[in-house]
Amino acid sequence: MIKQISIRTSKRNEFIDITEEVQAVVEGFNVKSGICYIYVPHTTAAVTINEGADPSVKRDILMMLEKLIPHRASYAHMEGNSDAHIKSSLVGASEVVIIEDGRLRLGTWQSVFFCEFDGPRSRRVIVKVIRD
Ligand code: ZN
Repeated sequence: MIKQISIRTSKRNEFIDITEEVQAVVEGFNVKSGICYIYVPHTTAAVTINEGADPSVKRDILMMLEKLIPHRASYAHMEGNSDAHIKSSLVGASEVVIIEDGRLRLGTWQSVFFCEFDGPRSRRVIVKVIRD
């Protein structure tokens, strides 16, 4: 069972909470117990799980990524978005969440974030649900 989520990002660097959209995919397939794969098919974006309760956490992560991997540096890639490619690889293209009682088995403070590093763009997230 597979479904695509479409996202329109509005900034060059941004984290977008997609927990509810992913949960809706799980509910749409009516899976009570299983595994949910969340995959980002882009080279300048990523997906991560981290704190969703306090928005300053995502701001701090974005700020430190920017500090570690600046937009402008002596990169070889001519497209001008090497920082976005590097951030994408560091953060990663996929996450796995356990499904229990029809819900994503996230921790109390955890959310699933789509990570944009070269926006604004139209993006896709692929969600695959595997029933036990
Ligand atoms: Zn590029």
